[in-house]
Amino acid sequence: MGSLNLYILKRRIRKWWKYLVVLIFLLAVYFGGFFHITGNISTTPPSEHSRNTMKEVFALRRQIRLLKSVLKQYSIPEKEYSDVLLPVIYVITPTYTRPQQKAELTSRLKSVFLHVPALHWIVVEDAPKKSQMVSNFLESSGLTHTHLHQSTPQEWKLKDSDPKWRKPRGVLQRNAGIRWLRSKFAHDANPRGVVYFADDDNTYSVELFHEMRDTHKVSVWPVALVGGVLVERPLVGSNGQVSSWLAGWKADRPFAMDMAGFAVNLSLLLNKSGVEFSIDAPIGFQESVFLEKLITQEELEPKADLCTKVYVWHTRTEQPDLKQEIRLNKVGKHTDEGIEL
Ligand code: UDP
Ligand code: MN
Repeated sequence: MGSLNLYILKRRIRKWWKYLVVLIFLLAVYFGGFFHITGNISTTPPSEHSRNTMKEVFALRRQIRLLKSVLKQYSIPEKEYSDVLLPVIYVITPTYTRPQQKAELTSRLKSVFLHVPALHWIVVEDAPKKSQMVSNFLESSGLTHTHLHQSTPQEWKLKDSDPKWRKPRGVLQRNAGIRWLRSKFAHDANPRGVVYFADDDNTYSVELFHEMRDTHKVSVWPVALVGGVLVERPLVGSNGQVSSWLAGWKADRPFAMDMAGFAVNLSLLLNKSGVEFSIDAPIGFQESVFLEKLITQEELEPKADLCTKVYVWHTRTEQPDLKQEIRLNKVGKHTDEGIEL
């Protein structure tokens, strides 16, 4: 009897073994993945960055649901549902004409901004009028944008022989951007949004914009390759507040950081009337003079995992070698004739 049972069992196993293998495999995948996920949850809490990304994904899903319903009954004014939309990040970029300008605007800014939802790019040319190149560039960029111009008076312009730090750059252009925002929201007491000042030669990561999206007053993070050091960064105390600054040059500035290291809540900026950058702020104190009008150090919101991650680099681009172009120009030849670069 015993050997008969064994025989039947063996036959059954022979018949079903393939299914058994598949079942064991599926169970292993299921439980393996499950343990992996739960293991992650219990041991490492999600970083601030991934929490912000998840928040954005949820907000976008809500927007999709909402937009679907708006499509059904399309006479609802936007302000009735604006609370479920992501706060728009208004990025203000001063820029000026030079051979590498389009390359900078393309690679350093447009290519990144295209990956960021709800971003409105305010490009302010340091010029007496808007250029055709920047107009065409913005029109074909696929980005929500505003194109302005504001020229810097000659006495404030850097001369070729001047060191870079001699004169402030981009100040009047950033202010033109702020004024445009003031007039756009003149009838809105509490507009939702975030303002970020992005120079046209820095290097930005997509993550930076996830970080700043949720800015109640002023958020801050490290900036690399600036002020003569590898990283300038706010130091965060155990209470989660900025306690001091790690910087090489003038670390005792009230806000020892670069323009690329902070974002401001739109309502905070607009509700403090007349807050702008000052063309005559002491050299290197542009950021401090501006921020002192808006906030105290304790109120800053440290982002990028309590200012331990780098998401922006204060890069500078090498001047292109145009010796041959200059030689050709002297004999009336221009390699850029009939072509835009
Ligand atoms: N900029 C400008 N006009 C100028 C020089 C610079 O509008 O005459 C802009 C420039 O395109 C950049 C910002 O101002 O977006 C800061 O200039 P730059 O990058 O030269 O200064 P940095 O901070 O690197 O010393
Ligand atoms: Mn720069």
